[in-house]
Parts: sequence; structure tokens; C-alpha cells
Amino acid sequence: LRGVVALDGPAGTGKSTVAKRLAMVLDARYLDTGSMYRAIALAVLRAGVDPADEAKVVAVAENAVLVVGTDPRQPGITLDGDDVSSAIRGPEVSLAVSPVSATGNVRELLVAQQRAIIEDAVDHVGGIVVEGRDIGTVVTPDAPLKVYLTASAEARAARRTKQDSAAGRESTVDAALADVQRRDKYDSSRAVSPMKAADDAVELDNTDLDLSGTITALLELVER
Ligand code: C5P
Repeated sequence: LRGVVALDGPAGTGKSTVAKRLAMVLDARYLDTGSMYRAIALAVLRAGVDPADEAKVVAVAENAVLVVGTDPRQPGITLDGDDVSSAIRGPEVSLAVSPVSATGNVRELLVAQQRAIIEDAVDHVGGIVVEGRDIGTVVTPDAPLKVYLTASAEARAARRTKQDSAAGRESTVDAALADVQRRDKYDSSRAVSPMKAADDAVELDNTDLDLSGTITALLELVER
């Protein structure tokens, strides 16, 4: 792959699994921008700060040191030297991440880091698959391929539940549905960089596609 594939969309579309697999197939790097917002949310919780307290959240974000892996086989993320790859997936972080990611100054900080990671990958490896909510609209609006991945809320909740139980986290379809709906509403209605498809993004609904069907559809778009 040469350049950037921007993959946006709501929670639970299987976006992470899809993005990692696509990066492997294309011999590209992989960037999970959601893990960065999650890591800052975790830092906020660890500091005992209210996620809705913007000034304090920004101070935590300014002092946090994130190192984000871009190997699709083992991405991983550290916060102040501590491997937080699993800790950022817990329900407390999923609750705190919405207000944290709605804070403009936090987004500015993270978008700058994301652009640096992307530039480095394109320079050294040639290509990168980047997943998030604002990749096609804000982070890399010049990406040659932008995909907005969607699926019905029910399909997304079912996938999230399966993923949670595979990772040993307790979960029910009802709780997962409530979480994806709450976050989608928050993410698409916030004032700064709301989640939305870029005007030139290809929308792909994978409600009725499995992982390999989704990858096949994406590879067709990459080769187009
Ligand atoms: O992708 P994931 O579900 O892990 O993202 C967690 C949260 O981080 C999202 O619900 C959203 O609030 C935020 N996010 C964002 N912009 C991105 C990626 C994630 O606001 N590019």
C-alpha cells in the first residue's frame, strides 16, 4: 500500500479487526486512534480528575506520554511507560472517553501526534491503515481512500459482546447495545470534529458481511 487508508465509523462495526487485517494483507502499518483517546481517558481516571472538567482533562493530556505501536500484529499502547493495551478496554474507560474526546484541546494534541505517526509510517513503510471517527474529515482529509464502515446497531452490539467475552470481560447484548448507542450519539453530536463520513468517503455497511467479506470489499476499493 502507498499512502493512507482512512477508516471511520461508529463503535462495534469490527473496525479494529478489519483495519488490522487489512494492514497485514497490504503490508502496511496500522494506527488505532481510538486507543489514544482511551489512554487519555484512563490517565484522567487515574489522576482522579472528573472527565467533564475540561481544564483539568487538558492538563492531564498535556502531561501524558503515549507511545503507540503501529504493527498490525501487535499494536499496543503505553501511557507513561506503562502498557495499558488491556486497561483501556474496560467499561470505566468506555464511559469516560466520550467527554474526554469531545475536548477540543485534547483533540488538537492527539491529532498532531497522529499526523506525525502517519507521516513517519508513509515515509518509512509506504502505507498505513488508520481507524477512528475523524480520520477522513480531519486527520488526513487528503487520504486517497476513505471508507465509512457502518452496520446496524444490533449487529454492532452482538459483535461487541462476542469480542468482550473472548477477552474475558463480562458483557451482555443489552449493555453493549446501550453503550454503542450512547457513544454514537455523543460522538456524532459533539461540537468539535463530530463523527461523520467525509463527503468523498465510500460507505460500506457490513451488517451482513463477515470479516473476510468485509476485507474482500475493502481490497476491491483499494485496488480500484
Ligand atoms: O474506536 P474506539 O471505540 O476505541 O474509540 C473510543 C472513543 O474515542 C470513541 O467513542 C470516540 O469518543 C473517541 N474517538 C474519537 N476520534 C477518533 C477515535 C476515537 O473521538 N478518531
